[in-house]
Amino acid sequence: MAEDCIFCKIIEGEVPAYKLYEDELVVSFLDIFPIHPGHALVVPKKHTVDIFDTDEETIKQMMAVAKKLALPVMNGTKAQGINIGMNNKPAAGQEVFHAHMHIIPRYSDDGLKTWSKNLFKDDKHKQELYEVIKKAL
Ligand code: 5GP
Ligand code: ZN
Repeated sequence: MAEDCIFCKIIEGEVPAYKLYEDELVVSFLDIFPIHPGHALVVPKKHTVDIFDTDEETIKQMMAVAKKLALPVMNGTKAQGINIGMNNKPAAGQEVFHAHMHIIPRYSDDGLKTWSKNLFKDDKHKQELYEVIKKAL
C-alpha cells in the first residue's frame, strides 16, 4: 500500500467504492467521475504506478477481468460499444498514479472522440520508427 494513494485506500476498504469484482491480483470498481454511467476501473491490488512497473501476470489478469466485465457493463448500461484503455504517464492523461484500466461504455451518437488522427507530410518516420521499435523488443 502506498501512502496517500486513493486506489490503495479503496482496496484496503478505507475509502468506499462500488466494487464490482475482486480476486487475488486485481479489483474492479466504478469510476467516481464516469465518462458515461457504468464506467469501471480494473486495478492491481499491489500498488504499481503504471504499465511499466506492473508485472505481466497482473497485466494479463487486468485484461482478463476487463474482458469479463465488458459484456455485463455493456448490457447493463445498454451501451453499443466499450472502450478499454490505460493512461500511462501525465502526457497520456494519467491523473491517478496507481495503475488502472478503464472500461468505458460508448454510444454511437455520444460525440466523444477517443483521439483524432494527424496526417503527416511524409512517411519517413514509419521506416525509422519501425526499425527503432522493433530493435528494442
Ligand atoms: P486516469 O486519468 O488516471 O487514467 O484516470 C483516473 C480515474 O480515476 C478517473 O476517471 C477518475 O474519475 C477516477 N477516480 C479518481 N478518484 C477516484 C475515487 O476516489 N474513487 C473512484 N471510484 N474513482 C476515482
Ligand atoms: Zn496505490
